[in-house]
Amino acid sequence: MHETQNLHCKGILAADESTGTIGKRLSSINVENIESNRQALRELLFTSPAALPLLSGVILFEETLYQTTTDGKPFVDVLLENNVLPGIKVDKGTVDIAGTNGETTTQGFDSLGSRCAQYYKAGARFAKWRAVLKIGPNEPSELSIQQNAQGLARYAIICQENGLVPIVEPEILTDGDHDIKKCAAATETVLAAVYKALNDQHVLLEGTLLKPNMVTPGSDSPKVAPEVIAEYTVAALRRTVPPAVPGIVFLSGGQSEEEATVNLSAMNKLEVLKPWTLSFSFGRALQKSTLKTWEGKKENVEKAQAAFLARCKANSEATLGKYVG
Ligand code: 13P
Repeated sequence: MHETQNLHCKGILAADESTGTIGKRLSSINVENIESNRQALRELLFTSPAALPLLSGVILFEETLYQTTTDGKPFVDVLLENNVLPGIKVDKGTVDIAGTNGETTTQGFDSLGSRCAQYYKAGARFAKWRAVLKIGPNEPSELSIQQNAQGLARYAIICQENGLVPIVEPEILTDGDHDIKKCAAATETVLAAVYKALNDQHVLLEGTLLKPNMVTPGSDSPKVAPEVIAEYTVAALRRTVPPAVPGIVFLSGGQSEEEATVNLSAMNKLEVLKPWTLSFSFGRALQKSTLKTWEGKKENVEKAQAAFLARCKANSEATLGKYVG
């Protein structure tokens, strides 16, 4: 695990959008989803002056792992030279579980071991696998909880067998009009099942990171204060995540950039025992203003990089509980 020991000490940039997902982000700024545009966006992020020292890892999609800057320098080398570890998304998206109300399980086990070995050779040192659960009248169902927990544990041990640190990501979506208590209960049940499965499959917790959702009301419910989100989230984690897990790196899950940062800061400010580092592994909450500023235009790259740096700085302060919006 050695060189990956510091992966949770700063923050992680999730830049691992699949070709389909990055297409949605690019279309929001009227940019065509072609390789050169995807490369240009990733180059903008990975060569942002002053931003890389605020990050300890970047999660890449397979295409990006093998891409280079326009000058021909592999992205992996750019990251490593700046002490940022390259990570790799290894799942292949979700499919519906038959007989459920649109619940899903995650695909990607075919040749996962050999893909992990290849990615390690290409420079990746950690991995991500996203399981998705939802809240509804009868959801998350026991079947979906078990399927997703087993899947995450199986993925995690395959990563560890191949030298990659697995980021375990059971994301409970915010969709719905439920209150924060319902999200807290679902988060606790799901995390408890995930840690049981990780133990059953002999995963070394010290060599994993957790990437959970924050505990919030549903997106169709009134918002609550960051301090309330912080209290519910940290309580859910304290009840379920063993202290052997070194770090918890939150996803932003559609929160605005500012919301995600303020919530993270409130959690770090909370004066209760937190045996793990609480940091970020944001995708949208690190890239939204950058994308909007960039608009796919060369002449905007510098301004967009400044926007990216501003988010990295804000979130870095939030990991110390010191962000003031
Ligand atoms: P968001 O922060 O945009 O939710 O993305 C993080 C991520 O990697 C989801 O898998």
